[in-house]
Amino acid sequence: MEIIDNQYCLSGGVRALDLVERYGCPIYVYDTAVIEQKYKQFMNAFEGVNLKLNYACKALSNVNILRFIKKLGAGLDAVSIQEVMLGLHAGFAPDEILYTPNGVSIEEMAEAIRLGVKVNVDNISTLEQFGHHFPNYPVCIRINPHIMAGGNSKISVGHIDSKFGISVHQLPLVQRIVEATGVHVEGIHMHTGSDILDAEVFLLGAEVLFGAAMAFPDLDYVDFGSGFKVPYKPNDISTDIEDLGKRIGERFHTFCKEYGKELTLKFEPGKYLVSESGYFLVKTNVVKQTMSTVFAHVDSGLNHLIRPMFYDSYHEIFNVSKPEGKSRIYTVVGYICETDTFGVNRKISEIQEGDILAFKNAGAYCYSMSSNYNSRFRPAEVMIYEGQDYLIREQEDFQDLLRHQVEVDGLLDDKVGQLGTEQPNLLGEKIEQKRKAER
Ligand SMILES: *Cc1c(COP(=O)(O)O)cnc(C)c1O
Repeated sequence: MEIIDNQYCLSGGVRALDLVERYGCPIYVYDTAVIEQKYKQFMNAFEGVNLKLNYACKALSNVNILRFIKKLGAGLDAVSIQEVMLGLHAGFAPDEILYTPNGVSIEEMAEAIRLGVKVNVDNISTLEQFGHHFPNYPVCIRINPHIMAGGNSKISVGHIDSKFGISVHQLPLVQRIVEATGVHVEGIHMHTGSDILDAEVFLLGAEVLFGAAMAFPDLDYVDFGSGFKVPYKPNDISTDIEDLGKRIGERFHTFCKEYGKELTLKFEPGKYLVSESGYFLVKTNVVKQTMSTVFAHVDSGLNHLIRPMFYDSYHEIFNVSKPEGKSRIYTVVGYICETDTFGVNRKISEIQEGDILAFKNAGAYCYSMSSNYNSRFRPAEVMIYEGQDYLIREQEDFQDLLRHQVEVDGLLDDKVGQLGTEQPNLLGEKIEQKRKAER
């Protein structure tokens, strides 16, 4: 967002406060101009390389976002059969989707194959069964290169004790299985974690993967997964994608010569493409001064944005209602009945009750990790596309909380609930209307 005429605006001059007026609060907002810019930056960094990006849709899986990213030219990385279904629903062709599950049943593999998508095998047991059940279906193999990488033990997935991938040390065994079953290995893959800063790590991984690739004579692609670090704090360092593109690109060219075939180089960025496109807008309910701290309580919590509590991640917070106010120090917390601190001792432009705050980097792993904890509704999502705003998901309502609950007929109480189907937040809306009328 940038400040235009003393108002925080998204691309095309869409004002953040107008979105709150129109769609309520809290809301997630995604600016597709940012996604496009990130996609193009990545593609340009690898100029001259036969490159394909598969967007890791677990980061943000609204179908409108998927369609936008498809329009840019990307394929899809799916980690569950449901993500595969979302991708197909959004219009991706089956062969544009690579399904990379971790330890799923052979039945789920069979379902992916029935749907016609590319499949990635990440363990020996599945590989053995694969040739038996699906002798003519090509596969990709996920290698664990045993590189310790990533910003956090929860998101580092390539180290020696990781549950992901087939150990590169087991390659001879993989080769024996491939020979015995006649399965066609069309791709080779690694994904070592999230928040990797260094091109060096990718280059190390590349050496391992290129080495492994030599064992499979009929490959179409080599997939380096993802894990790019994006900036969270002002002046934060992030993966230098131009440097990475230059170095990996050169190395890939020499590899293809050695291999004797022009392969496709693939990456699966999730966070890199969407993190910075997203803002989460919340309203300040209460400002509370204790002995040592000023708390800003907002109308959200770990139910909507769990990354700070789950990964200790940092999301910059600013006051959308006071673009040029004097800064003070706040600890921003949610309304959940356990500690849900979004940010400690943050310098934020002076907050009054009712002010709208925004969280940055709310595009990746925010909505997609949200829940109904405390029986709260999940928020709405809005997309900015070519300078216009579109509601792409409604806020949930009371019916959503009851959906799929089976109220066993007459078992415990035969009285219909007092609320019936009425929305408990109508009262809140009425108060809000009254407040507006008074202003
Ligand atoms: C999560 C994941 C990604 C995306 O990781 P980011 O850090 O969001 O870019 C890519 N590939 C696989 C297999 C993943 O599990």
